[in-house]
Amino acid sequence: MAKANAKLSNVPTRIGFGWDSHAFKSGIPLLIGGVRLDYDKGLGGHSDGDVLLHAITDALLGGIAGPDIGTLFPPSDPQWKGADSVVFLQEALRRVTAAGYAIANLDSTLILNAPKIGPHAAEIRSRVAGLLGIPEDCIGLKAKTPEGLNTDNAAVAHVVVLLQKKKKKS
Ligand code: MG
Repeated sequence: MAKANAKLSNVPTRIGFGWDSHAFKSGIPLLIGGVRLDYDKGLGGHSDGDVLLHAITDALLGGIAGPDIGTLFPPSDPQWKGADSVVFLQEALRRVTAAGYAIANLDSTLILNAPKIGPHAAEIRSRVAGLLGIPEDCIGLKAKTPEGLNTDNAAVAHVVVLLQKKKKKS
C-alpha cells in the first residue's frame, strides 16, 4: 500500500470529503466523534455506528484517493461487528501519514434532530483533535436539525479535510 501511496502526485495540498448516515435504534449506546452521549437511542450499524468518525475516516481516505471505509472494513466481515470506529480512523490516519501528508484542518456538519450537540461540542472536538493529533482549533464542528428533510430518525455527517504535504526532513 505504501507503494500505491507513493504514486500520489506531489501537490502541496489535497482535499478530502466524507459523508455518512446511520439510523437511530433504541437500547444501544450513542457514539458521536468517539464520545458517548447520554441518550435513549444509539446509531445502528455493523460497527459502533459512529457517524462522525466514519465520515472523517472517508474524508481522510478520499484525500489520498484511497479505498473507502466500506472497502477497507466491509460490513459483511464479522470481525468488524460492533467495532470501535476509532480503529477505522486510525487506519485512515496511518495511510495519510504514509502518503506523506498531515492534516491542516477539518470541518464537519452533523444533521440530526436530537440530541442537541451544542452542550457536547467541546468534548467532541477535543476527542477528535486528540484522535487525529491536531489542535482543537483545527476542528470545525457544526450541528443542524434536519428541517424539511423527514430524517428525524437518522444522523448524518458531512466532513471536509485539508491535507498538507509534510516537509521532507533534511
Ligand atoms: Mg457508517
